Amino acid sequence: MQRLIFFLIIVYLIYYLFKRFVSGIFRPRPPKRQKHLPPITDELVKDPVCGTYVPKKEAIVYGRRGKLYYFCSKECLEKFKQQKAKG
Ligand SMILES: [Zn+2]
Repeated sequence: MQRLIFFLIIVYLIYYLFKRFVSGIFRPRPPKRQKHLPPITDELVKDPVCGTYVPKKEAIVYGRRGKLYYFCSKECLEKFKQQKAKG
């Protein structure tokens, strides 16, 4: 009788692992939600070239000498780079 119970446990484990294996192939888990992300803020940043305020998440970010600059468009970024290259 004990051997039968042991056998059933083994069969169940194999079945369980197989089920997990199959579901892992056919139904890949959705990526985990990042729970600890800071809340999205509509913080405004100033474009140093044209002076426009742009939402941080939409701004073009450019890092220079450890400082971050935010631009409303690629054009402004290019102007900024040119200005810095000149002087
Ligand atoms: Zn701009």
